[in-house]
Amino acid sequence: MGGLLLGPPPTAVARVMPRRYTRAEWAARPPATAATVLNRAPDHIVVHHTASANATDLSLEHALALSRAIQNFHMDTNGWADAGQQLTISRGGHLMEGRNRSLAAINAGDLVVGAQTRGHNEHTIGIENEGTYMTEEPTTALWDALVATCAWLCDVHDLDPYAAIVGHRDYNTTACPGDALYALLPRLRDEVAGELGLRRRVRTSPPPKPSGLPGPRFTFDHGPAA
Ligand SMILES: [Zn+2]
Repeated sequence: MGGLLLGPPPTAVARVMPRRYTRAEWAARPPATAATVLNRAPDHIVVHHTASANATDLSLEHALALSRAIQNFHMDTNGWADAGQQLTISRGGHLMEGRNRSLAAINAGDLVVGAQTRGHNEHTIGIENEGTYMTEEPTTALWDALVATCAWLCDVHDLDPYAAIVGHRDYNTTACPGDALYALLPRLRDEVAGELGLRRRVRTSPPPKPSGLPGPRFTFDHGPAA
């Protein structure tokens, strides 16, 4: 064998498509009303933390139960039509669909209007990352899934990770996604760019500063969402 042309051509990108667990797989309740789908792509990806416990149970069963708990909180406590976020990642690294129609919309290059970043739900897609990241950093499994998920979204929606990936606190007055996870966003952008095969860029913005706000007081309340 000559070895020529083995493997992908130089322009191809080796991407790991994250396994996505659908609403049917986590046994979602039907939404009160069907989500609104905009015929355009999101321009930003908003990173959140769920403001819930940093669970040590990394199982799929725990992840699916987390999705149900968030949906119940958003519908029964907040009074929303459905789960607010489009995507959820557990500390075990399991990626799950949130609001109804989200996966179909992503695959079509469209945006489901969520309830995750007040004033910015019509142009952003939100990822809820299980845990509270004021001081503690995410698990490796969650991190790897977050990188893969952002790379997938940037690919599908043709987004520049350096411009597109933001934290909830960049839009609203909130400690979300926590000082520790927020400080990791430059590394997240770099790793997503690496996944996409983009050249590493020199960031000119200053290092992230803590929000100065106290951490979450209530489970699943990460700041203004709708
Ligand atoms: Zn948030």
